[in-house]
Amino acid sequence: MADDALIEKEQDKTFAEIGLCAELVEACEALNWKTPSKIQAEAIPYALEGRDLIGLAQTGSGKTGAFALPIIQSLLEHKSPFFACVLSPTRELAIQIAEQFEALGSGIGVKCSVLVGGVDMMQQQLSLGKRPHIVVATPGRLLDHLTNTKGFSLRTLKYLVLDEADRLLNMDFEKAIDDILKAIPKERKTYLFSATMTNKVNKLQRACLRNPVKIEAASKYSTVDTLKQQYRFIPAKYKDCYLVYILTEMSGSTSMVFTRTCEATRLLSLILRNLGLKAIPISGQMSQAKRLGALNKFKAGECNILICTDVASRGLDIPSVDMVINYDIPTNSKDYIHRVGRTARAGRSGLAVSLVNQYELEWYLQIEQLIGKKLEEYPAEEAEVLMLLERVSDAKRISQMKIKESFTNKRKRRGEDDGEDDTERLAISHKNSHKNSKGSKKFRNKQR
Ligand code: AMP
Repeated sequence: MADDALIEKEQDKTFAEIGLCAELVEACEALNWKTPSKIQAEAIPYALEGRDLIGLAQTGSGKTGAFALPIIQSLLEHKSPFFACVLSPTRELAIQIAEQFEALGSGIGVKCSVLVGGVDMMQQQLSLGKRPHIVVATPGRLLDHLTNTKGFSLRTLKYLVLDEADRLLNMDFEKAIDDILKAIPKERKTYLFSATMTNKVNKLQRACLRNPVKIEAASKYSTVDTLKQQYRFIPAKYKDCYLVYILTEMSGSTSMVFTRTCEATRLLSLILRNLGLKAIPISGQMSQAKRLGALNKFKAGECNILICTDVASRGLDIPSVDMVINYDIPTNSKDYIHRVGRTARAGRSGLAVSLVNQYELEWYLQIEQLIGKKLEEYPAEEAEVLMLLERVSDAKRISQMKIKESFTNKRKRRGEDDGEDDTERLAISHKNSHKNSKGSKKFRNKQR
């Protein structure tokens, strides 16, 4: 990983040196975890000694491994069902935690159940019937099962983990957590992880940990100071319009625009080209030769806007750019770091703008947590941006129509390649068909 903007603080010690058994060292290797992260290196030796832990750490620090590894090591010694319970504030986090337990414990046959709201209780009851070793749950749903699922109890529990305790308490899970604490043995190990030490977290800690060791570790990921990071909350329907506005404001700069799907790279490129911007897509759907062709055009300055997905952007030698736009917010926060690492390299400055719609808020908040800072808002007068709306909507409609047509044609002449050539050909054809289309005066002015 050669990104200058990505600072990874690696540890000198190995997983074996911090006390993990051979099976778990192997499991870490299988996940390509080369050395323990800071929080893992500091917390695991104490955990293996049997101490309670308070970990001040954020997502991205490797905190899940810091509690999962010692729990699995202990499970190996006395394998029993309902061995550990992890409380998580959200269903997404609960699923991620269970995935890490399963990945680390796959060679050892670790079984997990995830108990979160919004999923059928019955399905979860069946999963509990299989007597899992680890239960990962949101507090409300766990309490539901403790009250209503026949035969299910946590009376044999050996470990309790309160993950993201600050968020758990902010989400009004206090009462549910109290009730859960009453239903589990007092004789247990407890690990509490939190990004911040609030009063509520302090109170919870005093109530349920015994002589804990406190360990602090900043996120493994941080972004460089020369990178200016901004966001803009916008309704989904105005995203294209904002994208065009920002690119136009920054005309003359080199930009990378990240989308979630290959289809979107193609559609956006067509829209932008229809509006006279020099955009080119790179997507996993294109052959390697086509991708390189597109990249060369970008490097040579023939096109100054590269539209891509996360997958396509990796493994390609992409030069540093002036601006990164997250047209779609990445669902995996680490992708954000990789994306913005394309700008502000080697001491130069750069701008990253994230366009966040109503469906992407949770992912955006996770990014802020990962990088450990609140971003500033991208400044723009909405009324000014929306002056482009008609023209952008027009360009979008035409582009969608062209893609549909080309799809039908392509089915007829199977075997021809796709991607960049198509975009180029289609862009030329709608430029011609819309030579006389009316555009916003503001936009034309901005193009000059
Ligand atoms: P977490 O902070 O637990 O959410 O972990 C963030 C990410 O870091 C996850 O994708 C883990 O798979 C990864 N990770 C955890 N520990 C390590 C490690 N020692 N080396 C490399 N990656 C790790």
